[in-house]
Amino acid sequence: MSDNVAGKQTDVIVLGAGIVGVSAAYAARQRGLSVILVDRREPGSETSYGNAGILSSGSILPINKPSLWSSLPAYLTNRHAALRWDPAWSLRNIDWIVRFLANATNSHVRPRATALHGLIGASLKLHREWIVKADAGQRIRETGWLKAWRSEAIGEAKEEQAFLAEYGIESQLLDRQAISALEPNILPIYKVGLLHTQTASVDSPGEVVKAYARMFAGSGGEIRQSDIKAIVPDGDGWRVLLAEGGISARHVVVALGPWSADLLRPLGYRVPLAFERGYHQEFTPNPARSLLRPIHDAEGSFLMTPMERGIRVTSGVELTDRDAPSSLAQLDAVVPVARSVVEFGAAVGEPWRGARPTLPDSLPMIGPAPRHSGLWLSFGHQHIGFTTGPATGAAIAAMIAGAQPPFNAAPFSPGRYL
Ligand SMILES: Cc1cc2nc3c(=O)[nH]c(=O)nc-3n(C[C@H](O)[C@H](O)[C@H](O)COP(=O)(O)OP(=O)(O)OC[C@H]3O[C@@H](n4cnc5c(N)ncnc54)[C@H](O)[C@@H]3O)c2cc1C
Repeated sequence: MSDNVAGKQTDVIVLGAGIVGVSAAYAARQRGLSVILVDRREPGSETSYGNAGILSSGSILPINKPSLWSSLPAYLTNRHAALRWDPAWSLRNIDWIVRFLANATNSHVRPRATALHGLIGASLKLHREWIVKADAGQRIRETGWLKAWRSEAIGEAKEEQAFLAEYGIESQLLDRQAISALEPNILPIYKVGLLHTQTASVDSPGEVVKAYARMFAGSGGEIRQSDIKAIVPDGDGWRVLLAEGGISARHVVVALGPWSADLLRPLGYRVPLAFERGYHQEFTPNPARSLLRPIHDAEGSFLMTPMERGIRVTSGVELTDRDAPSSLAQLDAVVPVARSVVEFGAAVGEPWRGARPTLPDSLPMIGPAPRHSGLWLSFGHQHIGFTTGPATGAAIAAMIAGAQPPFNAAPFSPGRYL
């Protein structure tokens, strides 16, 4: 049984209503295509809800960069706030770890940084346009993002600044006084700061995704809330099996974030997707001690972002199975450290857990599935998917329409792994 609108052939079904899927759906509507967006939850309820809300101009350096090697001894202790790993998972996924580490060389950094620079630049432009169009302009803050060190890390900060400058990305080096002038309500514990001046942030990433989804619906798109069971080739198109029936379209976009590999396996695609899990906890702010922008405590390995509901503290990476039980050890370790930066009150709500979907080269897959026409892959956005969702969506919509993506999408081709 098909429950598409009677007699009408849908052009595109987008699977997953996180920032990536909502963006693809909206961009496809903008090209005049008929689009159904499907998710089992409300738009923006999973990874795109719980992130740190940073629209980062400067996140062009992949996580697996040469400096990772010098951090490894500390990470191997399995006690570092930046990284915890499950030994059983690591043994089962040793192949993924080797491939991930093999990318952490100088020669592998530049091409990926250039690729990410294109994707991020195009995406920030769209975010700034869409957030106003979606009537959510009040949620974006153009106050930058502060990375801060407690030690005399001036060399490290200057190196990062020089690297960013090569790509035309602006930042400002700050000393203790300048940091205090910028963020008057934090304690003067940081000796060095690097302010990413072209970075923005939002006060509720989940609400921003919901606003983009409303914009999509307002442009004539259809949103279905349903569990997606399978995707099956169907003539020259696709059939998507939902909990309560099936729908068909010429094109299907897989934008299921950390769940993307599951539905592709029956089609013969083994996606090397790992899960960098992360946690957040929000806290009641002290109104006299508010933060003006997100702060990344470089040595503490946590972030603090002022959000609508309070100060959101986000943890580092936990490498394990996507659905393994939560371990709050990293969050418990960083919260007292965060309290030593700024005063805040009691926890608001429960701790949240999500999974950053990561491929071995830390770049997402954006493009056609190699062995199936009309199947488009759009996932693996790791630490920067909230930033890069809009241009990813615009690229997928352009490719479906046979047009040029707004950045060089070749480095993101799914064919590199499938
Ligand atoms: C702690 C943390 C902090 C982060 N901070 C930032 C940041 O500051 N800036 C930034 O740019 N990025 C950040 N990220 C990364 C970013 O959040 C992700 O890369 C991004 O949200 C991924 O979006 P997505 O649309 O691919 O996935 P998701 O938002 O997870 O969307 C996937 C959707 O698929 C749906 N789905 C899955 N399976 C099914 C099924 N079978 N049937 C129906 N629906 C299904 C889910 O319900 C979900 O809504 C952070 C991530 C974490 C974990």
